[in-house]
Amino acid sequence: MKIRASIGTAAVLGLEKILLQAKPTTAYLLMYSDTNCLSNCSFCPQAKESAGRRDGLSRVLWPTYNLDEIIDRIITQETGLKRICIQTVRYEKSDEDLLEILRRFSENKVSTPLTVCCYPITKEIFQKMKKFGVTRVGISFDCATPELYDEIKGKKRGTNISWNTMEQAIQDAVGIFGKRFVSTHLIIGLGETEKEAIQFLQKFHEQNVTVGLFAFTPVKGTPLEKHPQPDIESYRRIQLARYLINAGKTSFSKITFRRKDEQRDQILDFCVKKEEIEQVISYGKPFRTSGCPHCNRPFYNESPGKDLYNFPVELTEEDIAVVRKSLIDSF
Ligand code: SF4
Repeated sequence: MKIRASIGTAAVLGLEKILLQAKPTTAYLLMYSDTNCLSNCSFCPQAKESAGRRDGLSRVLWPTYNLDEIIDRIITQETGLKRICIQTVRYEKSDEDLLEILRRFSENKVSTPLTVCCYPITKEIFQKMKKFGVTRVGISFDCATPELYDEIKGKKRGTNISWNTMEQAIQDAVGIFGKRFVSTHLIIGLGETEKEAIQFLQKFHEQNVTVGLFAFTPVKGTPLEKHPQPDIESYRRIQLARYLINAGKTSFSKITFRRKDEQRDQILDFCVKKEEIEQVISYGKPFRTSGCPHCNRPFYNESPGKDLYNFPVELTEEDIAVVRKSLIDSF
């Protein structure tokens, strides 16, 4: 059976020889399909109508390997991998193929925790996934509001998975996998305001769903190939707000937003003491890749050497100084 692995994962497993500036701490695997995904997200090269590379996702390449070889290397090598994340592609027999992949992991007694990042699936399949050892599930809204979702992933893209279907699947998954064992992703830069992003973060925090933040990354051959990446200062404010909300230090109802036209709905005040914010920034934690434990997705949204939206490793003093500078007007 074939499966794709991110090029960084393949390098950690000894399948590719490339120099890694930061090693992934999660093995990122992507289901293989001969056809494009039945979903049609306008940022994704795997989408039904995309003309992008089939071995691409965000700015990362995903070559194809044999699943048994991947499993064998995960079991027998010292990789430092602390999680395995299997990402699904939707096609006619994808439910069956996903379960087959999981069955092989289970039969081989792979002890590394397994996440499946999937489209909305029935409760029955969630139960089977759990039986095969999956401990966490990710179901990605990607968009902050139902309107954006319809435009970028839903109705207007000709697909039948609605925002409500996604919400139901998230609730089903929480019922089966437990509170804080279900994640969703939010991509910043798809047209949402900061206020809408914070409202999304608050909503899922209250539902005990963790949110992994990503920065929109244009990919050639997709309808959004010319769409810009988000402003880094705005991204930092949202990262900081996410951290403060999760830590119970603030909430959407306490945060205030700017009203002026060009800055409308930008975060004005986190409603947290300046010294406390300073301390949180100096940890660096809010600016690390977020989502499931040990998910670091190195250089998923940015090229090495450029400003990092998500830091895959601990921030240096120098990194923290740069981040602090970009946030200075916000508190
Ligand atoms: S946060 Fe990371 S490990 Fe979790 S589902 Fe998303 S990509 Fe996978």
